This record gives sequence, structure tokens and C-alpha cells, in this order.
Amino acid sequence: MFYFDPLSLVFAIPGLLLGIWAQIKLHHAYGKYSKVPVESGMTGAQAAREILDRAGLVNVPVEEIPGRLSDHYDPTKRALFLSSDNFRGRTVAAVGVAAHESGHALQHQAAYGLFNARMAIVPATQFASMAYMGIIFAGFIFQSLFHTFIWIAIGLFCVMTLFQIVTLPVEYDASRRAKEQLFRLGLVHEHERAGVSKVLDAAALTYVAALVSAVLQLLYLLTIARGGRR
Ligand SMILES: [Zn+2]
Repeated sequence: MFYFDPLSLVFAIPGLLLGIWAQIKLHHAYGKYSKVPVESGMTGAQAAREILDRAGLVNVPVEEIPGRLSDHYDPTKRALFLSSDNFRGRTVAAVGVAAHESGHALQHQAAYGLFNARMAIVPATQFASMAYMGIIFAGFIFQSLFHTFIWIAIGLFCVMTLFQIVTLPVEYDASRRAKEQLFRLGLVHEHERAGVSKVLDAAALTYVAALVSAVLQLLYLLTIARGGRR
């Protein structure tokens, strides 16, 4: 019933390779700059606190969480979570990542349109990714209904792809805000600028890879739906 379609590889490989390349770049950049001490001597947590306080976000807590690169801003809790390495680290990488997450809090405060759009489609995306797996499975079980199911799957996948499309500019904007604040507040000096950029650009590349993978997967689904391939 399940059989391997070589065409799926043609659509999967470019995104996969880009994803691996992005991970290697991030591993390399983060690994390098998490060993370079920041001249201000601040920890990531202190840098984030400074950026948030200066923006009037004194009620947004900065908390430490386990995991590697598990850093994120939670808009529902209005709280910033930093992995231990970045929370405690007094390095260019730690301060850069902490500032990036603070950038998301600044987007939230500014009611930045794409940030709000991304937040709004999170529940739909979570539903779509669960339903997608179910519908693909059902399409294989009930082969006669394949063509109905494949179009439902495409609809669901469009929602997931839309999320990736909206995420990309939100991530780049958070990094832009991060760098702006780091230099404006003097948390990072001129010669440390390139290091911050390298870490944040490498992190952003992982989102580019995710988007490319999603678009190619969508094209593959459209190809099999239109061509009647299974
Ligand atoms: Zn981000």
C-alpha cells in the first residue's frame, strides 16, 4: 500500500541540504561566539533586562530554561525565556541571542503587524499540522478517496507554509531590533558587531531552510494531485 515515490526525493533534497547547511553554520557561528567574551561583561540575561527596561517593559520577566538554544519569547505569558548558556553567558553569542528574543518583546509592544499575524495563526497551524498527518494516512488507507484527501492535505499544508512565510520577516525584524538596541545602549561595541550579526544571521538561515522545505513539499503535493500520482 505504501510505496516509495522517487519524485518525493527530488522535492525533499534541496530543503534538506539547505537545512543541514543552516544547522552547520549555526553550530559553527554559535560555537565560535559563545567563547568570545563580550567587552561590557554583561550576561545575556542582563542585556535582555536592560533592553526591556529601557523600552518600558519592566513587567516582562527574563527566566532561565533548560536546553540548548531553547531561547524564546512567549507572547501569551509576556515573558522571555533564555537557555542557561545564554542566560548566564557573558559572551557575544549569549548577548546577541538574548537581544534577539528581546526584539520579539519589542515587536509585541509595538503591535508589529506581522508579529500579531504570526501569533494569530499559531492555533490554526497547530491544528493543520496534526490534521495533515491524519489525512495523509487516511489517503493511503482509503485509496479511492485519495483525490479528495490530497486536496484537503494541500489546504492544510498551505496553512503550515503561510506560517513559515510570516515567520521569516518576523525573525529578521527581531534581529534588526536586537542589533539596534545593543549598539544604541552600548551593550555591544563596534568590533563585536560582526559576531552578533553572524550568530543571528545563521539562526535566521534555519527559518529560510524551513520555508524552502515547506514550499517544495507543497509543490510536490500539487504535482501528485494534478498528475494523479500516488
Ligand atoms: Zn526569533
